Amino acid sequence: MNPQKKFIAAPGGIIPNPGNTADRQTGDWRVERPVIDMERCTHCMICWIYCPDSAIVAKEGRFIEFDLVHCKGCGICAEECPPNCIDMIEELTFQNINGTSGDEQ
Ligand code: SF4
Ligand code: SF4
Repeated sequence: MNPQKKFIAAPGGIIPNPGNTADRQTGDWRVERPVIDMERCTHCMICWIYCPDSAIVAKEGRFIEFDLVHCKGCGICAEECPPNCIDMIEELTFQNINGTSGDEQ
């Protein structure tokens, strides 16, 4: 065993290096994915405020897209979106319809 790669468990489940979510590709944890109806989006950015994974991509105060490499599919954005323009769609359903995971970015 390579001693450099030894796993050290932190007591109490402490994360010794917080703020590292962006380094992890957590999108494949997802069971459901958010799908937006852009026609109804008001760009209020409530989803951006609530998303626990910073997986809402915004530019100049406007919603651009979901970062599906990091979105875990928690559904909070869909729950909080005032005009209800985000639907959570099962990944398997989405992939069957589109023939792709759609995560290629
Ligand atoms: S919360 Fe809904 S309406 Fe507001 S920016 Fe996000 S998707 Fe658009
Ligand atoms: S489903 Fe959860 S992780 Fe994904 S964009 Fe919405 S709030 Fe963020």
